[in-house]
Amino acid sequence: MSVEYNADQKIPHPAMWGVLYKSSTPFWDGVKEKRVMLQRCKSCGYWLNPPRPMCPKCRSQESEWVAAKGTGKIYSWVTFNESPHSAFKTPYEAVLVELDEGPRIVSNVVGINSDELEIGMPVEVTFEDVAEDLTLPKFKKVG
Ligand SMILES: [Zn+2]
Repeated sequence: MSVEYNADQKIPHPAMWGVLYKSSTPFWDGVKEKRVMLQRCKSCGYWLNPPRPMCPKCRSQESEWVAAKGTGKIYSWVTFNESPHSAFKTPYEAVLVELDEGPRIVSNVVGINSDELEIGMPVEVTFEDVAEDLTLPKFKKVG
């Protein structure tokens, strides 16, 4: 049930997000090295997800990037029947994975059929090179 891509269409690169991409550059650099990097407030330990310059809990502007374990569970998902971009073949599921550290990230699950998805299903990260210049973190069922 992984997302299938139309080979004749270029997959949009997250760099097109501009300032949002810049603030999450350590995340994307980590993905290239097959790690899930998360931003954490150095003052109070709050996870800054999505990445941001200031902690909403304590207003500190000091943060650090740490590698997540890469494990979590399915928090929710949605089926796309209409493609948001011509590169993505439908239908496919976009899942919200709650990492063991707490932050939730949007991704896809690979290796199972869509009717096997369950809320709470344990998953672990895997990495898929979807284009020459783009690797994405995806998740697969554990066990
Ligand atoms: Zn803080």
